[in-house]
Amino acid sequence: MDFALTADQELMRDTVRRLVAREIEPLLREHGAKRAMPRNVFVRGLRACAELGLTAARLPESAGGPGIKMLDYGIMMEQIPPVIGVSLIAHEASTARLYAEGTDEQRKRLLPDIISAGKIVCTDSTEPDTGSDPRNIKTRLTRSGDRLLLNGWKMWISNVAECDAILVTCLDCREDAASNKVIKVVVERDRSPFEARNIDTIGLQQGLLGEAVFEETPIDPRNVVISASGATEALKTSWAVNRPIFGLFAVHFAQRAYEMAVEYALVRRQFGKPIGAHQLVQKNLSDVATAVMSSRLLCYYALSAVDQGGPAEGLAAMAKRYAQNACQEAVWQAMNVLGAMGLSTEAKIEALYRDVRMIAIPDGTNEILALIHGREITGFEAFRGLVTASRSRRSRSESGR
Ligand SMILES: Cc1cc2nc3c(=O)[nH]c(=O)nc-3n(C[C@H](O)[C@H](O)[C@H](O)COP(=O)(O)OP(=O)(O)OC[C@H]3O[C@@H](n4cnc5c(N)ncnc54)[C@H](O)[C@@H]3O)c2cc1C
Repeated sequence: MDFALTADQELMRDTVRRLVAREIEPLLREHGAKRAMPRNVFVRGLRACAELGLTAARLPESAGGPGIKMLDYGIMMEQIPPVIGVSLIAHEASTARLYAEGTDEQRKRLLPDIISAGKIVCTDSTEPDTGSDPRNIKTRLTRSGDRLLLNGWKMWISNVAECDAILVTCLDCREDAASNKVIKVVVERDRSPFEARNIDTIGLQQGLLGEAVFEETPIDPRNVVISASGATEALKTSWAVNRPIFGLFAVHFAQRAYEMAVEYALVRRQFGKPIGAHQLVQKNLSDVATAVMSSRLLCYYALSAVDQGGPAEGLAAMAKRYAQNACQEAVWQAMNVLGAMGLSTEAKIEALYRDVRMIAIPDGTNEILALIHGREITGFEAFRGLVTASRSRRSRSESGR
């Protein structure tokens, strides 16, 4: 077991850091901190990331991907400001789903523009009445004569107000209105217009989180995606990667808060010496550093389990939940080191606290993640009272038995 990054991983990390400093931070600085990015800023940010293969990280080289491991992907994503990172992973995960579930014809027709970020995509699963339980969706694809029509309302969706295409999870009611088979359709905005808008939130305020309404939206029959493994199965696979990466977004915020707290502790003086020379301030900084390091290592470990072929579902859930909780507490402690200054909008550390809170919700709330992990530990499905077939080997070895 070697915890050091390889030379290649250091190169990838440093390349992304340079790209962020050169391309992304100036974009975010020139745009107001408290409102959603305009489309041109957003698109420029994602295109910069496309140059490093980050819009298609899960695709093999033969399909236009960078051919990297998921651990490497996580190391790179940790460096990207999460307000862009959340949009990027929504785009990239949609690319991966389309590749995994689409036909050869759909891949050839749709993927090249998406990989280059010439077109921006997202995945719409959540609805006003359906969040944690995606099997309960109501959006329906129906047939009317020779036309396919989509009706439904999707909410809390990354990128939706500014995207060019959406992978919409819906019920296939083309032949039978009572059918509950979950499928996906690609809604291309130029040919299938729909209403969408951004929603204001407490954190990630420059980001794009919104809702979309489909009312008799015409769907190109070539854009129906029916996965052999089923849409729910494909979602599970992508969650094993998404969740540790969301955990690494929390690490990104806590790392920045840690650096701000250390800098402040070295110059701010009370009782005749720098506050960093007081024992309890040192303990607080030690707690913050411990949260950052333990969260980072757990997320890396979960991604490495994906690279080794899994099972990684429980680990991924554990990593995101732990990292979000630990890093939210760490940002809070770092704010305390700044005293009243920590509460001022001028110091900007309070924005990190609002931002890290946002990470607790997407791709599984903390409660849902605990139940996913608990299912792996016990073999009992808490969601619907069903018992799963068996406990996984990884789960037993993790517990030391
Ligand atoms: C920044 C951000 C980005 C997002 N991006 C996307 C996206 O791109 N695409 C998309 O489809 N969605 C996206 N979402 C939506 C997100 O996936 C959902 O908000 C999430 O799944 C939770 O659903 P909900 O908000 O409806 O909460 P609910 O499911 O209604 O849950 C409400 C509360 O009940 C708890 N709860 C629910 N069920 C249980 C249970 N069985 N046991 C214990 N507690 C339970 C939850 O933990 C939560 O605390 C995003 C959300 C955010 C904040």
